[in-house]
Amino acid sequence: YDGSRPWKLDATNIKVTINKNPRTVPDPGSAEERSQKVCSDHMVSAVWTLKDGWQQPEITPYGPLPIMPTANVLHYATECFEGLKLYRGMDGKLRLFRPLANCARMVKSAERISLPGFEPEALVEMIRRLCAMDGSKWLPAHCRGSFLYIRPALIGTDPCLGFEVPKEALLYVVISYWPQPSYSDGARGLRLLASEAEELRAWPGGTGFAKIGPNYGPALKAHGRAKRTGCDQVLWLYGEDCQITEAGSSNVFIVRRESNRQLQMVTPPLEGGSILAGVTRQSILELVRARLSGDTTKEVGPVESIEKNFTMGELLQDLSDGNLEGVFICGTAAFVTSISVIEFRGRTIELPNNNLALVSLLRKWLFDIMYGGEKSEWADII
Ligand code: PMP
Repeated sequence: YDGSRPWKLDATNIKVTINKNPRTVPDPGSAEERSQKVCSDHMVSAVWTLKDGWQQPEITPYGPLPIMPTANVLHYATECFEGLKLYRGMDGKLRLFRPLANCARMVKSAERISLPGFEPEALVEMIRRLCAMDGSKWLPAHCRGSFLYIRPALIGTDPCLGFEVPKEALLYVVISYWPQPSYSDGARGLRLLASEAEELRAWPGGTGFAKIGPNYGPALKAHGRAKRTGCDQVLWLYGEDCQITEAGSSNVFIVRRESNRQLQMVTPPLEGGSILAGVTRQSILELVRARLSGDTTKEVGPVESIEKNFTMGELLQDLSDGNLEGVFICGTAAFVTSISVIEFRGRTIELPNNNLALVSLLRKWLFDIMYGGEKSEWADII
């Protein structure tokens, strides 16, 4: 088995076992809420074996997984995951944002780490069913403008210790209770610590494009250093010319003016295989191309969005020429957040924040789609 074969996952008939010992929802602002250790009452999972393919998915009480100490994932890190949110709209409805994009990305990640594929629509259905079951208790109708975090994961459970492509796997989805951010958080601007040459997150021919656990564990060392030095996240650089790639678990956009004063948004391209194809990144590119490319709005003039490599040298040049408008990051967790400082090789680089109107507009557009202020095909109502 080379991981490339599609397997039929049928989520039309999900078996349900109700949790008879449901837990209480943490109080807003409590230590329990901030712990990020509390999950909702149920989880949904499906077992796969090479012999029988995917078995019928099941919703069961949230709890420990039955895996052996020799399970493939615990030794060879055969794991991939996703991250998306369940939003309680301003109209009281529950929504997912482009869940099919996450589930399709998960299939690509699974293929890269030799785990079985499935139809992304089937995983969307499993997520929808779980959200429908736990959403009203864990994100009640009065919590308008709030969200829960959904974590799908796929692990190699094969108990064979040999270095082999796993012949058994488990797909599961949990919903985690999440501290609610203040939507003014984005105004502060984050500090990023630029990574060092010997600590790469991703490289050509590697696995940066996949959302697999093995990309994240090794990144914790630099992340820990960033936190210890008063930064929020790592700015991942690559190559001798210090190409800007990603920041923490987010994609990066550089906002600048061309010599003809045209406003440009630059983000690294996906082609090299080192950048995770963020759903937020893609949505921003699509929104800007549809709404800001030619025409102007009252707040923001025409903006050209470009996918190309951009180096620290170019950023510093733009800064000294007065062409840099700002830098922001985007992702499911980070939403759209400005960067105020980059710590790079002992220098503290203060970034301008002239792109505030653009960042505010992007935040508003995405917020409106996620929370029902604007009708959109990207919103999947539960
Ligand atoms: N880059 C990395 C490395 C990530 O882990 C994430 C989070 N999934 C992102 C970017 C942003 O992706 P998305 O917009 O889909 O959350």
